[in-house]
Amino acid sequence: MKGTIWRKSHGAFIMGDGESKVEYKEWFGMSDCIFCKIAQKEIPSTVVYEDEQVVAFRDLQPQAPEHVLVIPKKHVESVLGLQQEDKDLAAHILVDVLPEIAKQLGVDASGFRLVVNTGKDGQQTVKHLHFHLLGGRSMQWPPG
Ligand code: 5GP
Ligand code: ZN
Repeated sequence: MKGTIWRKSHGAFIMGDGESKVEYKEWFGMSDCIFCKIAQKEIPSTVVYEDEQVVAFRDLQPQAPEHVLVIPKKHVESVLGLQQEDKDLAAHILVDVLPEIAKQLGVDASGFRLVVNTGKDGQQTVKHLHFHLLGGRSMQWPPG
């Protein structure tokens, strides 16, 4: 490893000689991220939807009869962490995944709420982008 230069490239650090790479999560300790662990099935959860890019699972402390968290499998810290290269992923979540889950939960006709807590004032507690889908009851406004 002596004299190796690391460079950032598409989510991985690649050694100067290109002979191997280390994923961000290993380099930055993102293996400690609870939602990465859920996505990788290292922590059990009740999965309601999964595809190559996204997993959705029931919240441990549901705030409504239906409370699902939709996350990218890729570690993104928050909406502010989304990059240009993530546009397809973001559109996939909004256009394909969330409506599909709403139908699956049976809240598409009755309505539901999407919440994306972001940063300190947003009270984001898990630093891995997640969309709360809450439904099955009438929501209050304004939120707390
Ligand atoms: P935030 O407060 O960051 O917007 O939302 C984090 C959510 O993750 C909370 O609603 C919390 O209940 C949920 N949560 C935290 N840890 C776990 C876990 O290990 N499993 C599941 N299923 N949900 C979790
Ligand atoms: Zn993560």
